[in-house]
Amino acid sequence: MRISSPDKLLFPEAGVSKLDLATYYADVADAVLRGLRDRPVALNRFPDGLGGGKSFYTKAAPKGLPDWASTARVTFPSGRTGDEVCVTEAATVVWTVQMGALELHPWPVRAADTDHPDELRIDLDPQPGTDFAEAVAVAREAHALFEELGIRPFVKTSGGRGLHLLVRIEPRWTFVEARRAVIAFARELERRRPEQITTSWWKEERGERIFIDFNQMARDRMTVAAYSTRARPEAIVSMPVLWSDLGDVEPGDFTVKTVPALVAKNGDANAEIDDVAHSLDALLEMADRDEKDHGLGDLPYPPDFPKMPGEPKRVQPSKARHDDDGDSAGSAGSAEAADSTHQGSKS
Ligand code: ATP
Ligand code: MN
Repeated sequence: MRISSPDKLLFPEAGVSKLDLATYYADVADAVLRGLRDRPVALNRFPDGLGGGKSFYTKAAPKGLPDWASTARVTFPSGRTGDEVCVTEAATVVWTVQMGALELHPWPVRAADTDHPDELRIDLDPQPGTDFAEAVAVAREAHALFEELGIRPFVKTSGGRGLHLLVRIEPRWTFVEARRAVIAFARELERRRPEQITTSWWKEERGERIFIDFNQMARDRMTVAAYSTRARPEAIVSMPVLWSDLGDVEPGDFTVKTVPALVAKNGDANAEIDDVAHSLDALLEMADRDEKDHGLGDLPYPPDFPKMPGEPKRVQPSKARHDDDGDSAGSAGSAEAADSTHQGSKS
């Protein structure tokens, strides 16, 4: 892979050049490929580096894709399709650096079947008044619940203030089902730790808690790849961590400069992630129980989604109180319903 302008600084404050970033990915190639291989990926590109002004989040494979590189076809929530870059080898990752990508955001699917996720993702988002330490406490609670279900979760820093939990699943369920499983999981955690955890989509209801962002499991929602950099001045990296080490780390410990030595010394904390693919049956049974016994159904989708079947009103509670329309589905998300093909939920 040829890198043009190798001395151009992609992270000026951290002093990380294009060649440095390409070298970083080459150094951690096995580890970074574990999270990216055969996955369609969206790129957050900064062609002039961080602070260079321009940046764009690209889903479609850019023009100039090398002839050895692959794409994978994905279907967006609108029902339209697109071809995204598919990571097949270390050179693909190095090529993203040539394209000025500072963040790699893979789909939770593999190219062979882009409608059925093979990765369940739990996004723990600290709300104002909480921080990384609170996210760690909630991650431990989540770890315990997964263990009760016989499921082995892996954890990584997001590179922001929160954490991502990853679970390898059999690619047998749709995005709608995988999101339903995440909602059931999050609700059970919320019942166990109501002071610490919220599943409220509405910020006004979240309080000083960790929000479990179940909509990150919706179709066309990405989570940054393990070992990808984040577009932050420190050249911070989203870093997998062993559960036994989680209490001893800070997100800022992991940068382009520190991570290669850590991986060389300790290996990849996600090394065993592909060993077992779990079933979603237990979580989907929890979802059924929530619905039958507690009347807890679906939760709102993000604003850019078409209205989804069974989705509740997409309006924040403080506004809904002033709304005369008692129909729980009718006017919901009417602005989004313009594209009412519902194809995002098909199959
Ligand atoms: P934090 O721990 O601070 O929440 P995060 O990376 O999890 O960091 P979120 O806002 O929770 O950030 O978003 C989750 C994921 O959604 C990201 O990892 C990224 O893949 C994707 N994402 C969020 N916002 C954007 C954006 N503006 N552009 C591209 N991708 C985004
Ligand atoms: Mn997050």
